[in-house]
Amino acid sequence: MRLKVLGAYGASDAEHNLTGYLIDDWLAVDAGTLTSKLSFAQQARIQAVFITHPHADHIRDLPHLIHNRFSQNAAALTVFASKEVMQLLTDNVFNGIVWPDFSKLISPLTKAPAVIYRPMAPGKKVMFNEVGLTAVNVHHQIPAAGVIVEMNGQAITFTGDTGPTSEIWKRTNKTPNVVAVVTEASFPNDQQSLADETAHLSPNTFGDELKKITVDAPVYASHRKIPFERDIESQIRNLRDRRARVLLEKNYTL
Ligand SMILES: [Zn+2]
Ligand SMILES: [Zn+2]
Repeated sequence: MRLKVLGAYGASDAEHNLTGYLIDDWLAVDAGTLTSKLSFAQQARIQAVFITHPHADHIRDLPHLIHNRFSQNAAALTVFASKEVMQLLTDNVFNGIVWPDFSKLISPLTKAPAVIYRPMAPGKKVMFNEVGLTAVNVHHQIPAAGVIVEMNGQAITFTGDTGPTSEIWKRTNKTPNVVAVVTEASFPNDQQSLADETAHLSPNTFGDELKKITVDAPVYASHRKIPFERDIESQIRNLRDRRARVLLEKNYTL
């Protein structure tokens, strides 16, 4: 599968972008960066987006993706998230105040709503276009779930933001042909207490998580905070595990 990393940072400036991934041009994971890096036509090809949690850096472009879809002659966008995360999104974002609830508005072009919400039961695989999506809860400050994507005989795990966790590793270890794991390392090792307090990982705790992962695939650290990106990168390298990598904003072929 092709993984286009549109945003691989936990902060943004002119050269660094918020979390946003696109698989084979039609399935997105998180929406910190989607519309801001994709043409109108590329956005219309996105059929579904999985949202890990409602923190602003993971949903910044979602209202705009939905709004654009409303004026495109394209199939509805399906938004996947765990039940709890979906509830937070509809209560706090698509609530008619921060943004309209486009699932209730009829698009003049398609005569149908531009968005469909699909809340998921954690741990239960859902099929969409012959792709398996399994939401698995992780440990963050607010309800959050990563996702295991199974497509064309390959699998990739995205944790989204998380502190030390276990369930998603157990599920990943049992999933056939995992070709990549995308998790995080937000803060450098000398900010371990901040990482712990905010339920994020540092390279040290990323290293502890690596020990729980038995699959032989690259494990990428995303969501680096901009001022510390070089420190985090060298600390990841110092783990001396050949699977450990930092995620870059580029296209990967897996
Ligand atoms: Zn984040
Ligand atoms: Zn977060």
